[in-house]
Amino acid sequence: MTLIRHLVEGRETGSDRRTGPVFDPATGEVQREVVFATATDVETAIAAAKAALPGWRATGLIKRADVFFRLRQLLVERQDELAAIITSEHGKVLSDAAGEISRGIENVEFAAGLVHLLKGERSEQVSRGVDVHSVKQPVGVVGAITPFNFPVMVPLWMTASAIACGNTVVLKPSEKDPSAAVFLAKLYEEAGLPAGVLNVVHGDKVAVDTLLDSPDVKAVSFVGSTPVAKSIYERATANGKRVQALGGAKNHMVVMADADLDGAADAAVSAAYGSAGERCMAVSVLVAVGDHVADSLIEKVSERVAALKIGAGSDPASEMGPLITREHRDKVASYVTGAEAEGARVVIDGTTQQFDSNGFFIGVSLIDQVKPGMKVYDDEIFGPVLAVVRVETYDDAVALINANPYANGTAIFTRDGGTARRFEVDIEVGMVGVNVPIPVPVGAYSFGGWKNSLFGDSHIYGPESVHFYTRSKVVTTRWPDHTPTQVDLGFPSNH
Ligand code: NAD
Repeated sequence: MTLIRHLVEGRETGSDRRTGPVFDPATGEVQREVVFATATDVETAIAAAKAALPGWRATGLIKRADVFFRLRQLLVERQDELAAIITSEHGKVLSDAAGEISRGIENVEFAAGLVHLLKGERSEQVSRGVDVHSVKQPVGVVGAITPFNFPVMVPLWMTASAIACGNTVVLKPSEKDPSAAVFLAKLYEEAGLPAGVLNVVHGDKVAVDTLLDSPDVKAVSFVGSTPVAKSIYERATANGKRVQALGGAKNHMVVMADADLDGAADAAVSAAYGSAGERCMAVSVLVAVGDHVADSLIEKVSERVAALKIGAGSDPASEMGPLITREHRDKVASYVTGAEAEGARVVIDGTTQQFDSNGFFIGVSLIDQVKPGMKVYDDEIFGPVLAVVRVETYDDAVALINANPYANGTAIFTRDGGTARRFEVDIEVGMVGVNVPIPVPVGAYSFGGWKNSLFGDSHIYGPESVHFYTRSKVVTTRWPDHTPTQVDLGFPSNH
């Protein structure tokens, strides 16, 4: 069986003493094994990244940018191959896998502008004969820990900016679908990135904890579930590191009575069931303002769901693939089967749908009369389950969302510009869509939620990533210009 190994300084390493299975979620079969790093494996990768740091930092900015221009080209040329790897281990349909690559390419394009991004500021003559300028310098070795659900896009969120800013990286991708990260690291190398600048180690908590505890790792970027994000933030900040830890989500889509209800139903089906709901920006709660809106949306969503094609991600006819593991599929199913006992009404029960495959498939579910306090509302389910919460007014919708501990994304569907503007002002969520169900910012903006969806101060990719992956330094300069100087023990004043 193929063994997926670490990639350290451009070489595949790691022994098969401790490994984990990598499934094909469409068949339920183990298709590969992945090595799990020991603390020593990770320390070796950190040492490689540390050794590569001075050379990479000294590489001219134009030459650094060249790597990203070439990487972009390679990602475009190899998109189908990479999408097939994503689909084989994650299960999402090929078009969706290609979609995540194209969103990741935006981060590479942003990084290619590094000459502009790393510009500092300069003020002449802040005092007589004295000038000041600021520079942005790399933080050092960066630890990057990524989730299973975007095996290429999330590693690109982190690696592109971190490397552009002159840092070196140890990437720990999800052990559930690790092959895409290795493929990506090889593309970086082919694009001209020197060995050791990007290293990949696989594994579990052992690998992650070694990154969090190493004094040579200066910053940690994490994306994953909220409990793990919180513990990573606490451990790494206690170790004096700069940390951004993005967590889970419960994204609400508000539909006002004046909205285009057909358009809203299309958007809800796409955003709730796309990628089998395994997206941190998936819509999992439909907030219908008024019973008429709720009844109408349920009817329209049900019509659309009846036509959905669920099957292997590699089949071009499939619109939705399987879930990532059998355990996760069973957990998702338990929310649906338990919903009636909590007082909700199961309109469509996806757990009863039969598939002629041992893959981790489940049908889509729609649950009405959901309220806070029910598990189906309170928990991030991360599967194709859409809950409908009925509220009477716009204010009720805002109060519901603002009371939720997650605050990643949200959207409002309305034809009224005034309502949309109020929503933008009132809502306590990091990313907001107006008639856009999945408002993932383009690469020139930064991505991040509020509250339990992000621990730390910096959002990820875009301008905030340049801030996160650099330290600023301010230099105050005086060159002798023949102006006489004198001793002055007072605090330096510029008047
Ligand atoms: P996860 O938290 O289980 O794993 C994420 C990473 O952390 C993996 O690399 C995993 O190996 C590692 N990990 C897991 N448990 C750990 C532990 N106890 N100690 C140290 N490391 C550990 O998340 P997942 O299931 O891979 O991904 C799905 C989750 O990620 C969902 O909650 C989803 O909302 C979230 N997510 C959030 C965003 C965002 O931008 N906010 C984006 C994508 C996914």
